[in-house]
Amino acid sequence: MAYHLDEEALELLIRDSASSCGYPLLKDQQKQVVLSFCQGKDIFACLPTGFGKSACFVILPKLFDLLRKESPGHSIVIVISPLNSLMKDQVRSCRERGVAAAAVTHDDKSSEEEAIKGGFQIVYISPEMILGTKKWRSVLDSNLYQSRLVGLVIDEAHCVKTWGDDFRQMFKELGHLRALIPTGTNMMALTATATTRSRLEICLRLGMENPHVVQLSPDKPNIFLSCNEFDSIPASFGLLAKRLKEERTKMGRVIIFCKKIALCSQIYSYFLYILREGFTEPRGVSVASIESRLVDMFTSGTHPEVKEVILKSFQSQTAPLRIVIATIAFGMGIDCPDVREIIHVGPPSDVEDYVQQIGRAGRDNLPSFATVLYGRNLMRNTSKTMLEYCRRNDLCRRNFLFSEFDSYSPSYNRGCHCCDVCSIICSCFNCSFN
Ligand SMILES: [Zn+2]
Ligand SMILES: [Zn+2]
Repeated sequence: MAYHLDEEALELLIRDSASSCGYPLLKDQQKQVVLSFCQGKDIFACLPTGFGKSACFVILPKLFDLLRKESPGHSIVIVISPLNSLMKDQVRSCRERGVAAAAVTHDDKSSEEEAIKGGFQIVYISPEMILGTKKWRSVLDSNLYQSRLVGLVIDEAHCVKTWGDDFRQMFKELGHLRALIPTGTNMMALTATATTRSRLEICLRLGMENPHVVQLSPDKPNIFLSCNEFDSIPASFGLLAKRLKEERTKMGRVIIFCKKIALCSQIYSYFLYILREGFTEPRGVSVASIESRLVDMFTSGTHPEVKEVILKSFQSQTAPLRIVIATIAFGMGIDCPDVREIIHVGPPSDVEDYVQQIGRAGRDNLPSFATVLYGRNLMRNTSKTMLEYCRRNDLCRRNFLFSEFDSYSPSYNRGCHCCDVCSIICSCFNCSFN
């Protein structure tokens, strides 16, 4: 739906609805997204994790109520999201901002009924729920939704590409939604990382025509990039274990990603063996006390209740948890400002995944580290580019990694603050004296 107010009037309305949702100041990119959306464009926004992508759609219902001169609570936005835990967090945040929101899931029938009756301005739902059930197809077709739905948001849109191929088939089908939503309702795809190629692929799959693209480079200059050969667990993690032993809860937070659960458990056991009674804070408490562990494991085999404790601890300033050893299921949507280091045991499947995952480090903008450990048995299911990233020792890793993204302009001479390759040839004061 295009609203042809002059831009100044529109900006004023945007500012009003933003501040009434608790966003006193929108960033330029957020403003751009909302403005073009109101001008009737589909949006593809690629903005780094922690940037505040949700503000771009949370304010839409209020804004459209104003634009369409409807009474408050009239307009509805649907947000497609991949994970229940993510939806729950966002619903909580919406409600704190005075925006009626709910997550439609299989285990919350009453919210679903209320959402169908139009009781929520923001409706979070999974692709399986909205496309896989007849019910939601007819909800979209109902008079209520046909007249009140003002936008369809695809959050974590990179899943359309990466998950569409295997276990979340429904992500691939999201393009069908275009036919189900009211004519003229625009779509907004949001992601933290998309290479030029995958942006085009995602837009194609979602049936987005000529979307307005808003993006920031996913490069975070405060993250030092490096690659090392993986030898053995003690050789690769000995230093980290020693640091944890000395610094304990003062050590920065670390995420270790493994491809296999078996390797996760071996690394976990190694820390347990090295730290012994110091594995918990306070020392000597039973390892069974999850809240006291300095190191924990987060895999598909982890009990849901334990998962919840780990997620909470990792985001808490006071919890002792320092290191999480995880398969890739960990960390999407977690908001932990002080992750200091991300270690991949074996390179992830592609550049996009990698950039997405290291984006969890250094959200406080302090110096942080991203390291890939590579080795003979760790290179399966990895793209060619990612293999090259590990093996080339003659190119700046940053320039190599981010040249895949169309919003990146190469930086030169960042020296020892950039990557292990640049450090070797750095001629800054500190480096020349070492
Ligand atoms: Zn470099
Ligand atoms: Zn230097």
